[in-house]
Amino acid sequence: MTQPLVDPFQRAITYLRLSVTDRCDFRCVYCMSENMTFLPKKELLTLEELDRLCTAFIGLGVEKLRITGGEPLVRRDILTFFEGMSRHLDSGALKELTLTTNGSQLERFADQLYAAGVRRINVSLDTLDEQKFADITRWGRLPQVLRGIDAAQRAGLRVKINTVALKGFNEDELFTLAEWCASRDMDLTFIEVMPMGDIGNEDRLGQYWALSDLRSSLAERYTLTDLAERTGGPARYVRLEETGQKIGFITPLSHNFCESCNRVRITCTGEIYTCLGQEGHSDLRKPLRASGDDLQLEDAIRAAIALKPRGHDFDYSRQDVAGRVSRHMSHTGG
Ligand code: SAM
Ligand code: SF4
Repeated sequence: MTQPLVDPFQRAITYLRLSVTDRCDFRCVYCMSENMTFLPKKELLTLEELDRLCTAFIGLGVEKLRITGGEPLVRRDILTFFEGMSRHLDSGALKELTLTTNGSQLERFADQLYAAGVRRINVSLDTLDEQKFADITRWGRLPQVLRGIDAAQRAGLRVKINTVALKGFNEDELFTLAEWCASRDMDLTFIEVMPMGDIGNEDRLGQYWALSDLRSSLAERYTLTDLAERTGGPARYVRLEETGQKIGFITPLSHNFCESCNRVRITCTGEIYTCLGQEGHSDLRKPLRASGDDLQLEDAIRAAIALKPRGHDFDYSRQDVAGRVSRHMSHTGG
């Protein structure tokens, strides 16, 4: 029997997040600069290689696979990849196949995603105001995303909304967002903005809205009950007693959650990052391409996981942006 993947801090690695492209049809101001240079397409792993890589991880005990990017649904023929992964859902080796998306392409793909075995998706949405949406995403249009969310729910996909908490931007929409999600039976998770990548002239500290403050604002209107539920991930949850809805908080800055980290990330070129908030990574493309069998690849995966750091060092507490990493979130996949 194969040894499971366990890192030096005795954390079992059961969750893989795969970025299938660094490209995107939006240019969110906290994620990308307006003029991004993307990887040449020939650098990318092919869909067949992505399949082999994920299959190797599933063979080593990964049970949850999240596809992300850039915008995963702008990668050509990506549905073929999802359809391929569904065989691991059928065999029971994979418990969940899911994705994080900006929603722009959901109208086109929701039914096919459901047919491939996807049941839950995360859609990133920071505002319900059309003009603000256009401002924050630079290239995105809110009605298109709302049609995508409608299509996803019609297809039977459970939708969770991810909202980056941005000071001076969506503070005034806290209740509108919560109520809108409740009315559509969608959970909502807020994320603190992280110092990742050069984003031009935007001010990281100025964008930062601590979720402890956001939580206090929520408590002015709702009764919050802390939920014990953890998904092995960074989110902590509360239930709003008045609506029954679940709200998640991902607090990389104000509360470090690395002790329970069960995940690793792979980029579209086959680099493995064992921590979102550190620069360290290893190459899996070379061992993947070196041989048709997976022995070298599995050795490389185990070697990378043996280097997984204890955690990230993001820190704004001294009124400065510390622990910054140079790559954009779209490189590793959020
Ligand atoms: N394009 C897809 C989307 O937007 O959902 C998937 C990739 S995106 C990089 C994944 C998530 O990362 C999104 O929810 C986005 O809001 C979040 N994100 C991007 N840059 C971030 C940053 N600097 N800090 C915190 N979250 C960030
Ligand atoms: Fe694209 Fe997602 Fe980054 Fe926005 S957050 S620019 S949608 S990758």
